[in-house]
Amino acid sequence: MPSYKEFHARSISDPDGFWREQAQRIHWQRPFERVLDYSRPPFARWFVGGTTNLAYNAVDRHQATRGEQAALVYISTETPSGEPAEKSYTYAQLYREVNRFAGILKGLGVGRGDRVLIYMPMVPEAVFAMLACARIGALHSVVFGGFASVSLATRIDDAKPKVIVSADAGSRAGKAVPYKGLLDEAIRLAQFPPAKVVLVNRGLAELPLVAGRDLDYGRLRAEHMNDEVACEWMESSEPSYILYTSGTTGKPKGVQRDTGGYAVALAASMEQIFCCAPGETYFCTSDIGWVVGHSYIVYGPLLNGCTTILYEGTPLRPDAGIWWRIVEQHRPTSMFSSPTAIRVLKKHDPAFLTRYDLSSLRLLFLAGEPLDEPTAQWIAQGIGKPVIDNYWQTETGWPILAIPRGVQALPSKFGSPGVPSAGYNVKIFSEHDGSEIGADQKGVVGIEGPLPPGCMSTVWGDDERFVRTYWTAIPGRMAYSTFDWGIRDADGYYFILGRTDDVINVAGHRLGTREIEESISSHPNIAEVAVVGVADSLKGQVAVAFAVVKDAGRIATPELKLAHEGDVMKTVDSQLGAVARPARVHFVTTLPKTRSGKLLRRSIQALCEGRDPGDLTTIEDPTALEQIRAAVAR
Ligand code: AMP
Repeated sequence: MPSYKEFHARSISDPDGFWREQAQRIHWQRPFERVLDYSRPPFARWFVGGTTNLAYNAVDRHQATRGEQAALVYISTETPSGEPAEKSYTYAQLYREVNRFAGILKGLGVGRGDRVLIYMPMVPEAVFAMLACARIGALHSVVFGGFASVSLATRIDDAKPKVIVSADAGSRAGKAVPYKGLLDEAIRLAQFPPAKVVLVNRGLAELPLVAGRDLDYGRLRAEHMNDEVACEWMESSEPSYILYTSGTTGKPKGVQRDTGGYAVALAASMEQIFCCAPGETYFCTSDIGWVVGHSYIVYGPLLNGCTTILYEGTPLRPDAGIWWRIVEQHRPTSMFSSPTAIRVLKKHDPAFLTRYDLSSLRLLFLAGEPLDEPTAQWIAQGIGKPVIDNYWQTETGWPILAIPRGVQALPSKFGSPGVPSAGYNVKIFSEHDGSEIGADQKGVVGIEGPLPPGCMSTVWGDDERFVRTYWTAIPGRMAYSTFDWGIRDADGYYFILGRTDDVINVAGHRLGTREIEESISSHPNIAEVAVVGVADSLKGQVAVAFAVVKDAGRIATPELKLAHEGDVMKTVDSQLGAVARPARVHFVTTLPKTRSGKLLRRSIQALCEGRDPGDLTTIEDPTALEQIRAAVAR
C-alpha cells in the first residue's frame, strides 16, 4: 500500500497509469483506447472509446454473486405513528424493478440521449427510475422534491424532458406534501412540457390524471412485469445525468456528468474514502435530489456491491434516536450525513447516542457545509466513532478533500476537511493575479485541469457557460474555481473559509441569492430586494431579505407589516419551495448601493452578522445602511 503522499502524487504525475488501474473496478463492454483526452481544455474526456453502462455496473454485474443480497433497503418513518416501515429489495429484485421501469420508459418512446425528469420523494421507485434511465442511456434530471413550481419549470425548460416521473405526494413529519398541484403548475408554466407524466400513487393525496398525458405507474408496471431491457452501451464520455445547482445568476446550471469516469471515480471512492467493502451496508441520510444522494445513496454503494439504505423521514421521528436504531438493526459500516442534521440531534438528549448497539459502524462522514468543531466533537464523542469531514460540490460529484482512510489513516484536524483526493490538483490562488499562494495564506480554492474522472463534463447545453463560469474566474489561469475561499497549512491540510460569490448554503443546500431575489421581486408590491446569507447556529446560514415596497400603505402598521412579510414568504414557498424561504423579510425604503448601482451585499451581510460593513467610500446613500442596521437590531 503506498502512503497517501505517494498515492496522491502519482494520481497527478501519472494520471494515465493511475486511472488505468482504477478503471479495472468496473465492467467495460468495450475496452477504452485512451485513458484521457485533454486536447481541448478544459473539456476532459476520460476512458476514451470505452463503452459501459452505469445500471449494468450497479445492478446486472452483481446478479451472479449477490442476487440474494439486499441491494436497497427502504426505511420510512413517514408513517402515521412515525414507527419505521421497511421494504427491502435484493439485487435480483432490483434488477427486475429496473427492467420494468426501463420497459415503461422505452414504451413511452424514451431512448438514448433523451431526458427524464424525476420529481420524487424518497421512495424506491425514484431509484428504479434513475437506474432505468441509466439502463437505456437516457439522462435523468432529478429535481429535489422540496422545490416548487417555478424552480421545476426552469429545470423542465432547460432539460426538455420527454417524460416526467413523479408521485402523488411526499411526506414531512407524517403530513402529506402533495406534489401534483405543483407539478401541473410547473408544466403549465413550462415552454417545453413533457409528452408524458408517469405518476406513482402512494395513496397520500388526490391524484387527478390529465387525459392523454398522465399515466399510472402501478398500471404500467403490471403491463411491463416481465420486460427484459438490454443495456445501452454508452461511450464513456456520453452523459449519464444532469443535476441543477444554483449559481450567481438566477438561472440554475445543469451539471452534466459523464458515464465511465463517474463509475470509476465512485467505485474508487467507496474504497479509498468511504471504506465500505462489497457486501457491507452504507447508510447515507441525504436526499436523492442532491448530489450526495446521487453518488452515495444510489450509484456509489450499488456500483460497489453494497447494501444501500434509502431513508425517508426526519432525524427526529419517532424520536431523535431513529438513525441509531437503524444502525443497530441494519448494521451499516459507514454512515454519511450533514453537519446541520447533527446540530439538530444535538438539541436532543445525548442518551439517544448510546442507547443502541453501534458496533457495526466504523466511520461517520459529514459534508455539504462547514463542520464546526463543537458539533464534530459532540458527535464523535457521543457515538465513539471517528468523524470524517469531506468537502465537495455538485460539480465534482465526489469528495475533493477528505481523509482517505482507505489509503492511509491520516489524522484529522478539526476545521479541515482534509487533503486532496485522487486526481484533484488543488491549489490556493490569489484572487488578484491568479498566482499560487503559499501555506497559511487565504486565497481561492482552485483545481488545475484536467478535473479527475467523475467531475462535471460541462454545463448542459452550454459549453461556453462552463468555460466562462468555472475556468475564467481565477485571473490569468486556466484553472477551475470552486468559488470557495481557503487556506492550506504547512502539512497540506486545507481549510474552507466560505464562498467567494453570492451563493449561500442553508442546511447544506446551495441556494442562489439571485434566484430568491427574482422570486421576491415577482410579488406585486415589491419594488426592489436584496437577499443575503446570514450565519445561523443551526442551519449554518439562512437567507435574509431586505425589500422596498411599492405601496407603503400595506406595511403601515406592525400587524400589516407582519402579514406582508408572510405574504412575501408565501410567494417564495410557492415558486421555489420552502427550502428557499428567507428567515426574515425586512422592509426598508432604500437599499445600500454603490454610485454605479451595485448592491452592497457584503456590507448588508456584515451588518446582519454584527460585523464591520467594510469600505463604504462608494456608497450612494449612507442612510440606507442605517436602515439595515435598525431593521436587524429590532
Ligand atoms: P453543493 O454543490 O450544494 O454541495 O455545495 C457545495 C458548496 O458547499 C461548496 O462549494 C462549499 O461552499 C460548501 N461545502 C461543501 N462541503 C463542505 C465542507 N466539508 N466544508 C465547508 N464547506 C463545504
